[in-house]
Amino acid sequence: MEKKNLDWGNLGFEYIPTDQRYVSKYRHGAWDDGAMTADATVQMSECAGVLQYCQACFEGLKAYTTEDGHIVTFRPDLNAERMEASCKRLEMPVFPKERFIDAVEKVVKGNAAYVPPFGSGATMYIRPFMYANGPVIGVAPAEEYEFRAFATPVGPYFKGGAKPLTIRISDFDRAAPHGTGNIKAGLNYAMSLHAIVDAHKQGFDENMYLDPATRTKVEETGGANFLFVTKDNTVVTPKSDSILPSITRRSLMIVAEKYLGLKVEQREVYLDEVKDFAECGLCGTAAVISPVGKIVDHGKEICMPSGMTEMGPVTKKLYDTLTGIQMGEIEAPEGWIHVIE
Ligand SMILES: *Cc1c(COP(=O)(O)O)cnc(C)c1O
Repeated sequence: MEKKNLDWGNLGFEYIPTDQRYVSKYRHGAWDDGAMTADATVQMSECAGVLQYCQACFEGLKAYTTEDGHIVTFRPDLNAERMEASCKRLEMPVFPKERFIDAVEKVVKGNAAYVPPFGSGATMYIRPFMYANGPVIGVAPAEEYEFRAFATPVGPYFKGGAKPLTIRISDFDRAAPHGTGNIKAGLNYAMSLHAIVDAHKQGFDENMYLDPATRTKVEETGGANFLFVTKDNTVVTPKSDSILPSITRRSLMIVAEKYLGLKVEQREVYLDEVKDFAECGLCGTAAVISPVGKIVDHGKEICMPSGMTEMGPVTKKLYDTLTGIQMGEIEAPEGWIHVIE
């Protein structure tokens, strides 16, 4: 198969329409058979549930070319399960897990020419999503939905090495206790945009959100979970019902324990103890781990001992091991690598 002539190493994280996407429609209480289409646009009622009451959720995962030339995805079953949880919370119909995985496979196969080659540092990002396209004016779940999945090639996240981030404690909250913080809903992002635009204006890369009830515990950023490393090499991640369950973070905790032999803890993490950690990173599909060098709490700086020039040593080992697993260079735990072709 002939690859597209793209400058893989210099791609950014931007939407580049590819040849084919998957669409399935939900009407009269059932999903249709679904099909691939070349049409990258959607058409819907002006009164669609997604436009009026924000009934939409999404997923994000990647396809990689491994060292031996296969195209694979990483744990797509967990994306399917997470979307199921999102749909249930938003009163949307569930798109069955097998069909979700099949849609991901079809989108990757249909756009295989856009899957970046091994060693380029680039990957293919897949965006499955669902939205209410049926009309609703009285507040209620819509009766019609669309599940779609498209793919877009994205560049290496860290061009010229991972530079540690400077983040601030946000005065805005991300997710209320018992709210929607634990599902991947677009509405969680809509209300984080002001906070991130303001953070950037003030010279910060990201916001650290605290638990809204007490504002003493670390939650996550707008789109990534926290992972900390203690001075005696225990990997710690915050526990809270309003954190989005990152697949990258869950995988890294297993890598830490099973591959690196480190102690791991998922527990409440108090802002007060952040100054005592040795390393801090943000986990998500896009970057795997972005190191955090500095956390600013209203002018008071917490400087991580790992510094502002490179990833901390444990973060680096976690990063190298997980990306090695994803690229087929390190043997994966059973079921993590889903071979597409
Ligand atoms: C998607 C997302 C993450 C990262 O999850 P991954 O499955 O690792 O990509 C973290 N936090 C939020 C709020 C997210 O939406």
